[in-house]
Amino acid sequence: SEADRVFDVERVTARLADVGGMQDVKKRLEMAFLGPMRNTKLRKLFGKSLRGGMLLYGPPGCGKTFLARALAGELGASFISLAVSDVLEMWIGSSERNLHELFEAARRNAPCVLFLDEIDALGHKRSSMGSSAMRTVGNQLLAELDGVDSVNEGVFVLGATNAPWDVDAALRRPGRLDRTVFVAPPDAPAREAILRYHLRDRPIAAVRLDPLVRGTADLSGADLAHLCETAAEYALHDSLTSGDVRMIEQRDLEAAMAETKPSIGPW
Ligand code: ATP
Repeated sequence: SEADRVFDVERVTARLADVGGMQDVKKRLEMAFLGPMRNTKLRKLFGKSLRGGMLLYGPPGCGKTFLARALAGELGASFISLAVSDVLEMWIGSSERNLHELFEAARRNAPCVLFLDEIDALGHKRSSMGSSAMRTVGNQLLAELDGVDSVNEGVFVLGATNAPWDVDAALRRPGRLDRTVFVAPPDAPAREAILRYHLRDRPIAAVRLDPLVRGTADLSGADLAHLCETAAEYALHDSLTSGDVRMIEQRDLEAAMAETKPSIGPW
């Protein structure tokens, strides 16, 4: 169907341990989703359902998508990801059906993490989409989130946004995306973990990461991933030229750091 073309149902192998930093965020996920999933008996004793929503907010590139995918891996759940801003225009006139199909796919594939990126796009007052069309999508989303009876059992909906102030308050009411979690730019321990993660499968000499951790205070997770790729490019280039593998060295990392511009800016 039309809706099927804009999303895939993924099986993921990522784990929360792959996500650098975010201790507080991981704790929230543990309490809301992971713990209850692991122990059905205790979950029922305490009257907790196996479903739920959460709104992740924070500057771009700091791991919201990465985290949502890792949550799916950790839950043993399937993963469906969709950028709301990308589909809105495409769905004009058929948004109710498409949204319904999206949620039906999540229900069929439960347990499932349904990741709705840029969910604030639903609130944009000046979009080219008329306000009545926008209201229709918004209302349909609320209806799907509420569900009837237990249709959403096993469906975990994570919304993400860089602009939480634009997110419709109705979306955040109980039973919907009723937990709000800030995904911060990485602090020093998180930056170290992110660098290690992105270097883990690359040929690397003995390097000291502390100068890099100190020099990257204004970089996002995405920037750090880019830094590692740039360093790898330098060593790869030499390897290609000489025909021998030259491992990634301190100088490659530092040159890459000097070259990597922060993408977050004031947020
Ligand atoms: P946006 O708001 O632009 O959607 P985002 O917060 O969803 O951004 P991601 O797309 O998850 O950010 O991050 C981009 C990439 O940066 C990831 O694919 C990953 O390679 C890297 N990255 C970001 N944060 C982390 C992290 N905490 N640990 C490891 N890698 C990270």
